[in-house]
Amino acid sequence: MSIIQRVIVVTASIVLAACGGGGSSSSHVAATPPTTPTGPTTPVDPMPPVVTPPTVAACAAPTTNQAPVLFDKAPMLAICDGVYVEPTTTADDQLALRQSVAGAYTTVTKFYGEFTAPHPQMIFCQTQACRAYFMGSYAGVYSPLGFKLPNATYTAGKPTIFITYTSFVGQAHSLTVAHELTHTETLYRYGGGGVPSWFNEGIATLVGSYPDCTSLTANYVVDFRTADFEAAVADSSKGDAIYCQAARETNAWITANGKQKLIDLLAGVKAGNQFYTLYGNLINH
Ligand SMILES: [Zn+2]
Repeated sequence: MSIIQRVIVVTASIVLAACGGGGSSSSHVAATPPTTPTGPTTPVDPMPPVVTPPTVAACAAPTTNQAPVLFDKAPMLAICDGVYVEPTTTADDQLALRQSVAGAYTTVTKFYGEFTAPHPQMIFCQTQACRAYFMGSYAGVYSPLGFKLPNATYTAGKPTIFITYTSFVGQAHSLTVAHELTHTETLYRYGGGGVPSWFNEGIATLVGSYPDCTSLTANYVVDFRTADFEAAVADSSKGDAIYCQAARETNAWITANGKQKLIDLLAGVKAGNQFYTLYGNLINH
């Protein structure tokens, strides 16, 4: 993943970064064709085959008129509430994206126990022109306040996840949605408080399983408390590995303290407590 696939969005005292995120989409299972009994003496059960239409939790086709999102004066296509694609997006890609959105909500909800944030708007680009218009040079980003992104034309005016899904190979775009959606929920939980960027990215990478940390096990940052995280990530040869180091740190902390302590930490930051007062010493460095 190149560095342009990450972005740091600075909002007041909040620093959010963006890139991929996890969420497998296993909710779609091909229907098994009904078997036809062939034995000559076996009565045929006339029960009709059960056909289960695909369901896409959290990303069902819109049932109400959607606020128009224009790209070059033409409306984007809403594939579910608040989720937009270019009108030229193929039916297969539309279905894959809906599955990715549904899978992302499932993944983040499973991690936190509950998805509490208002659902963000999502804009999925296929073409580079769309990408340039909506998200500038970025390929995946969560913009919590909906400001115009650097080098972009569009101003969302509301919390929005932007992803150029064609920039992510294979299932990576699905994982990216969960990574970004983790930012949404994490930010909502710590509210106007502040958490370090390494923590934000560590949680998102851990929950989203993206970037893929399978082979990225080396630690590059000596101490997240004192290092310039953004500067370290800006070295594109190490960027993913640094996200993965952050994910290992957050995972080690959760393993040692428990999930509830993490939820309490975010609530504590929202209540005005300092992050490191609640987090304590780093574990995995
Ligand atoms: Zn991120």
